[in-house]
Amino acid sequence: MENLTELDKRHFIHPTSSIQQQQRDGAKVIMEKGEGIYLTDTNGNVYIDAMSSLWNVNIGHGREELAEVAAQQLKKLAFSSAFSTFSHEPAIKLAEKIASISPAGLNAVFFTSGGSESNDSAIKLVRHYWKIQGKQDRRKIIALKRGYHGVAAASTSVTGIPEFWGMAGHMMTDFTHAETPYGGNTEKAIASLRQVIEEEGPENIAAILAEPVQGAGGVLIPPADYFKEVRKLCDEYEILFIADEIITGFGRTGKMFGMENWGVTPDMMTFAKGVTSGYIPLGGVVVSDHIHNVLKEKSKGTLFHGFTYSGHPTAAALALKNIEIIEQENLIENSREMGEKLLEGFQKIKENLEIVGDVRTIGLLGAVELVQNPATNKRFAPDLNVAPRVIEALHERGVICRPVTFGGTDIICFAPPIVIDNKQVNTLVEKLYDSVLSVQKQIG
Ligand code: PLP
Repeated sequence: MENLTELDKRHFIHPTSSIQQQQRDGAKVIMEKGEGIYLTDTNGNVYIDAMSSLWNVNIGHGREELAEVAAQQLKKLAFSSAFSTFSHEPAIKLAEKIASISPAGLNAVFFTSGGSESNDSAIKLVRHYWKIQGKQDRRKIIALKRGYHGVAAASTSVTGIPEFWGMAGHMMTDFTHAETPYGGNTEKAIASLRQVIEEEGPENIAAILAEPVQGAGGVLIPPADYFKEVRKLCDEYEILFIADEIITGFGRTGKMFGMENWGVTPDMMTFAKGVTSGYIPLGGVVVSDHIHNVLKEKSKGTLFHGFTYSGHPTAAALALKNIEIIEQENLIENSREMGEKLLEGFQKIKENLEIVGDVRTIGLLGAVELVQNPATNKRFAPDLNVAPRVIEALHERGVICRPVTFGGTDIICFAPPIVIDNKQVNTLVEKLYDSVLSVQKQIG
């Protein structure tokens, strides 16, 4: 067989990657198999998948039960449409299951194939919701700086990381961004939201869209009162609140959904990733009873929005099994407990190494910031590439993580599978300590 690296260069355009780097260096790692928290490449190297790949392999790799359920469904009814008045059991049962685990009052689900499609769908649904009530001016979406919501048309535009707007410009109008509560100041961040609402005119705003914890922005955990204040603001101005639970759903933050950490109920919730632990693409939008009722009463004719794979039977059957495993194996509790262990480990590293700034976890979503001076939070010069160096050092020690460097930050993100155990957390922490120490020595 021809060399895989050569074939990769010639034919495979990688997602979110540097095409020039790929052509120069080739694929650095070609993965072959996965089991639990581990991935193995074609050279037999074993890695801790400390990011659950793309924050999505919540129950870990290689679960036979999921493969079996998918195989059974593939043999019985691999695919059938859910358009118009057609339906099938797996999608119906999954919609019911998701309604039962969602915050009270969110009971109807629209399915998609992933996160970006879910946020685009949510944005179209909220605009439709206002339009059918004669309020077509309510079109604007307010999102947060450093928020990540995907790469489809609307989700690219609402993403608050300017690098994502460079490729094709804005695909959508009528969106704007307010300050993130990164740094811990609720008052300032709420004042920024209020200012944006007043400037744009509340009568023009459809919804505020935000992640419970900004993931790709650098695992930015908001202060405990932030989302309560966002909810109040939405109620005050009659604006809908959409929670992007695409990373934070299905046990990632030590709760079934991230917003539960603050007892806040959104009007809509988007999900993907952990719903199938990445074994098959699936996502969706859960809407409140109120929104569902308005749609039932006022949405005349066909809703011209649906994906071929909305409610894919095989994906739905697998998702049901995945959620059953999360519940039966108490993985949400494990996420909370192991998240606390991981934080203790991070704190010890911070006590012992000079270049570690803020460390944080919420369930098994965590971050370690690298700074020149932890006392003043002074950042390293970007050309020192501190976070990428730590990622490289981790890689050499068999750990896969992600850096976040935009906006002058050096953040190492962690989101290991929520099946991780105590011993594995200790190993991860030891490897992190060695990696940061080696970079601290390199940069003097
Ligand atoms: N929203 C959030 C919070 C995400 O982290 C992501 C992906 O990382 C998305 C949306 C987009 O999801 P997808 O890549 O499945 O389209």
